[in-house]
Amino acid sequence: MVQTFRGPVQPDQLGSTLVHEHVFVGSPELDLNFPHPEWEPDTAVDRAVTALTRLRDLGVRTVVDLTVLGLGRDVARLVPVAERAPVHLIASTGYYTADVLPPFFRTHGPGLLVDGPDPLIEFFLHDIEEGIAGTAVRAGMLKVVTDEEGITEDVARVMTAAAVAAQQTGVPITTHSRPALRNGLDQQAFLQKRGVPLDRVVIGHSGDTEDLTYLRVLMDAGSTIGMDRFGMEHVLPDERRVATVLALLRLGYADRMVLSHDAACFSRVTPPSWRAAHAPHWRFENLPTRVVPMLLAGGATEDELHQMTVVNPARLLTPHPKRTS
Ligand SMILES: [Zn+2]
Repeated sequence: MVQTFRGPVQPDQLGSTLVHEHVFVGSPELDLNFPHPEWEPDTAVDRAVTALTRLRDLGVRTVVDLTVLGLGRDVARLVPVAERAPVHLIASTGYYTADVLPPFFRTHGPGLLVDGPDPLIEFFLHDIEEGIAGTAVRAGMLKVVTDEEGITEDVARVMTAAAVAAQQTGVPITTHSRPALRNGLDQQAFLQKRGVPLDRVVIGHSGDTEDLTYLRVLMDAGSTIGMDRFGMEHVLPDERRVATVLALLRLGYADRMVLSHDAACFSRVTPPSWRAAHAPHWRFENLPTRVVPMLLAGGATEDELHQMTVVNPARLLTPHPKRTS
């Protein structure tokens, strides 16, 4: 069974799935002390329900929210969204940091001032097995980050904890990668060395590159690649993202790609006014209304689209406990 905000769901009930999205991206400390002028907490839930309802009307049945710590995860705020929105919403756990963790982690852990087991492991496992922050909502995916800073000491700590949690629970890992640096390869090497089967790893943001050789190496090693930033045309135009997917489909990789936007109902990192001006297609409905027609016009088949939007996400989201590579 796959854990969602409203409880466990059979994998074959997930339907068309967006595997990498965000409902609300914030920053608790900034929100408390320096609230963003465009953030309207009173209407945020209604707006999110409207956006997710529109998705349902367009055929999407499941949305994975990859808003983990570091991005202002607030599951209690999402519970009323999930109760009213006619899609399965899946929560995630992990830590979004490209370099360092908060000071708490400097003093808590094996051999540190407040000596004990790494709290990250306990935290990830609790989120997956018990529930997040006092709610009954269990995480269905893990998220880790590596970027320009490489696998720093703290990033390694997050990835190690995620590897332990992934093996113990069978929940998949999605990464934030920087394809220009080809660092999905570093992520694969690190996670594989710690026992994570690479077919349980999604190398996220892979659609930011057109380097087919690199992408094929990632997939040939077993991973699925996240073509998960459709609409982020300030990074790469959708026409070129589509061309990359089409090229890989022609090479037979339909079973190793998933499609999403990495969009948000609200993000204070790139607020609505900025998105409207600079990335107008960076919205939940971009795939069903614009990208899927482009893929079909370019020669993708309905079967291939079903594979990438239904079959692959269900395979990934179905926990595979106690497996090691
Ligand atoms: Zn994201």
